[in-house]
Amino acid sequence: MIHFDNLDKQWPDGTKALSNISLTVARGQFCVILGPSGAGKSTLLRAVNGLVPPTRGHVEIDGVVLSPSTQRHLRRRVAMIHQHFNLASRLSVAANVLSGLLPAVSTARALSGWFRAEHRRKACALLEQVGLSPTHLKRRAGDLSGGQQQRVGIARAFMLDPEVVLADEPVASLDPKISRDILTLIRDAARERNTTVLCSLHQIELAREFGDRIVGMRDGRIVFDGTPEAFTDERVRALYHGAQWEEPPRAPSTAAPAFELAHA
Ligand code: ADP
Repeated sequence: MIHFDNLDKQWPDGTKALSNISLTVARGQFCVILGPSGAGKSTLLRAVNGLVPPTRGHVEIDGVVLSPSTQRHLRRRVAMIHQHFNLASRLSVAANVLSGLLPAVSTARALSGWFRAEHRRKACALLEQVGLSPTHLKRRAGDLSGGQQQRVGIARAFMLDPEVVLADEPVASLDPKISRDILTLIRDAARERNTTVLCSLHQIELAREFGDRIVGMRDGRIVFDGTPEAFTDERVRALYHGAQWEEPPRAPSTAAPAFELAHA
């Protein structure tokens, strides 16, 4: 479970990226974050792995407050999937997947390239799960197609069996068919492990198809929080083209408890 408690983020230049964010995402939920560019989606995701320290408020993961003293431990439990894959393009596919272990192994071991056989087996199993064959293992990551690179990114993210996966626009640079395949892989891998997914997207239809829950952000605030069914065309227009709200309207109050019940 991820809990954001009254989170604010103001950048040194005065930009308020997050304002008063309070949100609880239940374990195992696939929560899609939508909103126009600059709404604060990326900042919100990065607050969960400690890359963006909040100005006010805090983030909790399974009841543990993210702080300098807990960050190292919590980072092992939170993995990220990036828009531009963030692979080491000159290294092999196998090395990239194994790098998902870095928060948990010593630097010396990582530098020597020595990983236990069980980890190698796990990397192979994950690659198979994301649809890559053993023939891909030794190929340079940078030589793969975008869709294949993101498959490697997904395998890397699940190496440590994370409790939370943050996916920051994971299909923004992929075509519609491959985007659907990639989101299916993330959803299936997460369901199998009861992993919580916080995924920012800009495609409304994909958000409706894959999200258990949709959170709409604008100007650093949550302006919609509800089911894909409640995210009507009118609400889409309001999110992307509506006037600026004084007080953010929320989805009916029954929506949030329903999620908690569904995932209890
Ligand atoms: P989104 O992911 O929804 O496009 P972001 O979270 O990237 O939005 O950005 C939210 C706001 O914070 C934007 O106004 C953006 O320009 C600003 N911002 C993001 N990162 C920084 C930074 N490192 N320094 C200053 N402003 C930033």
